[in-house]
Amino acid sequence: MYHSVGNQVDGDINGIYTMSNSQFAQQVEIIQQLANENNIAIVPFAAAHENSVSFTFDDGYIDALTIVAPLLCSKGIPFHVFVSSARMNGTDRKYMSGSQVAELAAMPGATIGCHGAEHQSLTSLSITEATSDLRASKISVQAAVQHTIDTMSYPYGHVNEAVRAAAEQVGFTQAACSKWGFNTKETDHMMLKRIDMWAGDNPSTVRDKVLGYWNWFGLLS
Ligand SMILES: [Zn+2]
Repeated sequence: MYHSVGNQVDGDINGIYTMSNSQFAQQVEIIQQLANENNIAIVPFAAAHENSVSFTFDDGYIDALTIVAPLLCSKGIPFHVFVSSARMNGTDRKYMSGSQVAELAAMPGATIGCHGAEHQSLTSLSITEATSDLRASKISVQAAVQHTIDTMSYPYGHVNEAVRAAAEQVGFTQAACSKWGFNTKETDHMMLKRIDMWAGDNPSTVRDKVLGYWNWFGLLS
């Protein structure tokens, strides 16, 4: 799980998500090397299987198009960007506009998911409000890319049984939360875990995270 490369991430008080281009490029190189050495496939988020890894980016920052896409496309690495539709439709151009999301979706290996409409904590809303936020996000991002969107990630990773059910009811078939860990065939497809990659991760931390040596972390959250 990544957020932004080269931009300040909103609310990132500890600076862990605001990653420079070179830090990101170094992490990608390590992950690609690890994948080669360990026969791990790097696959699109929607095609994940037990011996694979997928890159995801939350929020829809503009650098997904300007920095992440050129790097990952040139390496043939697929990646998935979860876009918050109100930000996409808003005026803050730190986030991709609808036409930029469409441009990204047309790039080789790039796929798009939703990340709420207003980027609110869905568990803090009534279930009616959460459902309409989820529905609005789906309709809006679909209109931008002109195809069905059936994946999403929960803003702030906030999800409970009711929000999970609402996401499924709205038509999402795969959803990522922010719970730390690996997924197996048995993992709930609406509660997919992720590994949080940080700006300060050195090469050995990146290796350890990707190989599962940090999965004890999931027990704490
Ligand atoms: Zn977010």
